[in-house]
Amino acid sequence: MRAGSGLGALRRLLKTQPDVFRVPTEADASGKLTPAEVYSWIRCYLISHPHLDHLSGLVLSAGSTKSASTPVYGTQHTLEAISDIFSGKIWPALASWTEEPGKPLRLARLSPDDGYTPIVGSLSVRTMVVSHGPSSDTTATSNPPYESSAFFLRHDPSAREFLFFGDVEPDTLSSNPQNRDVWRTAAPKIPDVLSALFIECSWPEDRPDELLYGHLSPTHLVEELTSLAREVVESRARSRASSDEDSGQSTDSERQHTRRSKRRRRSDSDIRDVDVRGALAGLRVYIIHCKDDLHETYDRPIQEVIAGQVRTLVNDRGLGAEIIAVEQGMLISV
Ligand SMILES: [Zn+2]
Ligand SMILES: [Zn+2]
Repeated sequence: MRAGSGLGALRRLLKTQPDVFRVPTEADASGKLTPAEVYSWIRCYLISHPHLDHLSGLVLSAGSTKSASTPVYGTQHTLEAISDIFSGKIWPALASWTEEPGKPLRLARLSPDDGYTPIVGSLSVRTMVVSHGPSSDTTATSNPPYESSAFFLRHDPSAREFLFFGDVEPDTLSSNPQNRDVWRTAAPKIPDVLSALFIECSWPEDRPDELLYGHLSPTHLVEELTSLAREVVESRARSRASSDEDSGQSTDSERQHTRRSKRRRRSDSDIRDVDVRGALAGLRVYIIHCKDDLHETYDRPIQEVIAGQVRTLVNDRGLGAEIIAVEQGMLISV
C-alpha cells in the first residue's frame, strides 16, 4: 500500500471490496475488517522520496494508530524531510531517529548501493538513487535533480525479487541520468529471479516534455524499457561468453575475442542496433502513479488509457514485456 494512501482510501476500498484483505485461511472470516485494523497490520514503511503525495497517509495517521516504533525506511534525504514534518511545527513530533517510548514512528536509514538490508520478516531491500526532475529553480545554472529511489525487494528464502521505482524522470531528459545503472543491475535477474517491475507513468502520451515535472510519459517509459532490454541482451551475451570460456570448448581466437569485447565498454551508439525483440519476455510491468486529475478527458480510467498507450509502443518494438494497469485493491503476486 502506498504511504500516500490513508485511512480514507482504505475505507472506500473496504466498502466496495470488504474481503479484499482477507486471506482464505483466516480463522475469523465472519467479522468485518475496519480501516484502522488493516492499517495496524503495517509493519514498516518504505519511502522512495518525501513528496507529499507519498507521505500524507503516513503523516496523518501517525498519531491515531496504536503501533509503536514502526520503522520508516528511506534514504537520508527522504528521512530528513520527514523529520522536518514531524518537528512539532506543522505536525506533532511523532517520529524519532531512535526507538523511543511514545513515538509511533522510527526513522531507519537506508544506504544506497550498500547491498541488501533486512527490513521486515524475510524481506530485504537494495536501494538505488534515481532522479526526479529539477529540484528547484529550472533557470539556475547548477540544479541537481530531486532525489528519488528505486528499490529491489527480495524475499530472502526464495531469493526472488521485484523492482519498485519511486517517481522518476527519463534519463534522456535528466541532468543526472541514473536509471541505466538500475537497468544494468536488474538485467541479469530477468526473468528468472525478477519478473515484476513497478514503475510510474504519470502522464498520457500527449503531455509535452516541458510539462512532465520529473515524471514519465509512455514514450519515455518505453525508451527506458528499451534501455533495460539492451542491458538484458548484453548481460545474456556476457554470461554466454563466460560459460563458453568455462566449458573450455572455445578456441584460442574465440577466447581472445571474448576478452576483447569484455574489456571494451560499449558506447550508446554501439548498442543502438542490438536486437531487443523478445528481450523482456516473462517480465510483467505494472504501471503506477497515473495522474487521475485528467480522467474527465477520457471515457476510461486514466491508468487503463496510459497502460494501453505503453502496451502499443512495447508491442511495436516487440520487447515482449506484459503491461498491466494497477488498480486500487488489486491482488498482485510477484
Ligand atoms: Zn514525487
Ligand atoms: Zn508522486
